[in-house]
Amino acid sequence: MYDNIISESQIFELLSKAQKPDSIQIDDILTKAKEMKGLAKEDVAVLLNIEDDDNLQKLYDAALYIKEEIYGNRLVLFAPLYVSNHCANNCLYCGFRAENKDIHRHTLTLDQVKEETMELLKQGHKRALMLMGEGHKSCTFDYFLETIDAVYSVVDDKGSSIRRINIEIAPLTDDEFQKLKNVKIGTYTVFQETYHRETYKQMHPSGKKSDYDWRLEVMHRALKNGIQDVGIGALFGLFDYKFEVMALIQHAESLDREFNVGPHTISIPRIKPAANAPMALHIPHQVSDRDFKKLVAVLRLAVPYTGMILSTRESMDMRTELIDLGISQISAGSKTNPGGYKQAMNEHDEDSSQFCLNDGRTSGEIIHDVIRMGHVPSFCTGCYRLGRVGADFMDLAKPGLIKLHCLPNGITTLKEYLEDYASPETKALGEALIEKEIMNIPAENIRNRTREFLNKIENGERDLYF
Ligand code: SAM
Ligand code: SF4
Repeated sequence: MYDNIISESQIFELLSKAQKPDSIQIDDILTKAKEMKGLAKEDVAVLLNIEDDDNLQKLYDAALYIKEEIYGNRLVLFAPLYVSNHCANNCLYCGFRAENKDIHRHTLTLDQVKEETMELLKQGHKRALMLMGEGHKSCTFDYFLETIDAVYSVVDDKGSSIRRINIEIAPLTDDEFQKLKNVKIGTYTVFQETYHRETYKQMHPSGKKSDYDWRLEVMHRALKNGIQDVGIGALFGLFDYKFEVMALIQHAESLDREFNVGPHTISIPRIKPAANAPMALHIPHQVSDRDFKKLVAVLRLAVPYTGMILSTRESMDMRTELIDLGISQISAGSKTNPGGYKQAMNEHDEDSSQFCLNDGRTSGEIIHDVIRMGHVPSFCTGCYRLGRVGADFMDLAKPGLIKLHCLPNGITTLKEYLEDYASPETKALGEALIEKEIMNIPAENIRNRTREFLNKIENGERDLYF
């Protein structure tokens, strides 16, 4: 129905024309990128073909410049919440695939969903990403809607609740999107996994997910049905990473052409080992750390206002490096098995997880480290709750404006965390960071207002935002 979302021939042609770029050409593109208006596909292809250390370093410097100009020091934190690992699909890289008979399958009851939510709240989370498998009778779309209500209904002993739920579930129909509009969600995300049609066919041999176009067109369906913020992504390792980055850009451009708004976020998962998942154990196009860093930096330059999400699939060291190359959101303390947060309190249950994680730090440890690195961990949900979504968010996301709203909101949500959930060491570090960061708020009136909010939070008020 939607023509030309992805043109494979154009991608191959642009990548082949851009081979062995020279330094002058690269410098020109990096200068253009620093204007923060994004890059043309031709330029993206050139940057993806950088191989030498000097030019890679220049690329990283440009990515850091843009990250700091647009996003400042903030880093948004969230936690995934899996409600079911039943799945009728057979994705060859995933531990939840139907043919994996060794995994323990659970679909959480609504009470169990509430227990999981309580565990996330205890860790200080305010943003959850809810996920499940596809096409099993125990985890229907209507069940999923009920789990959303269940999560929002939980309030902990500090009076906190999850303030924003993003969701990542299989492509929905028009009718389902209409129902989804009635519950409060932030971003609707689906990864295309691979944009390469032939590879997609091989990786998804059966089930509803084997339909490439049904999945590719889901974000067009979502926006057409009034969902405001959508997230796209590719699972790196299934096909050539340069192809996937070019395709992500084509996908983003197609949404922008059709609806005047690009994706709110891009996710960049790399395949990790998973039980009984042949393509996760023999990854067809393994992406090296060096190429992974390059692709993150290129995306930062290509779509400067699109949030970039990194999960605990990556190691602590890799995550630390990628934050400076453009990542704006990270997950923390994650479990990829339904019931995993509650279970972690009692026993270890790896054999119901989707894949192996590489950053095993607790949320508290991650938050501590993020502060120590000088970033403001933000639990902010202000934009979505004030209706700054879709194209309105993109208008806000001009240099300086994110700093004006998002930095104060990051600071006030960090203050809440420090008051309610932090260890004494983290609290001391965090207070010092707040004092420093408050001076980076560009407008005096907002700086003063932020100080007022901080005082009110110390005196017990919560959920104050700009
Ligand atoms: N089942 C839905 C779907 O496939 O769209 C919901 C999302 S699924 C629970 C979350 C994502 O995990 C998938 O889209 C896929 O990209 C990713 N994933 C699956 N197996 C993985 C692996 N072995 N390593 C890393 N990511 C994986
Ligand atoms: Fe099911 Fe999603 Fe895993 Fe595929 S990636 S097997 S659809 S949970």
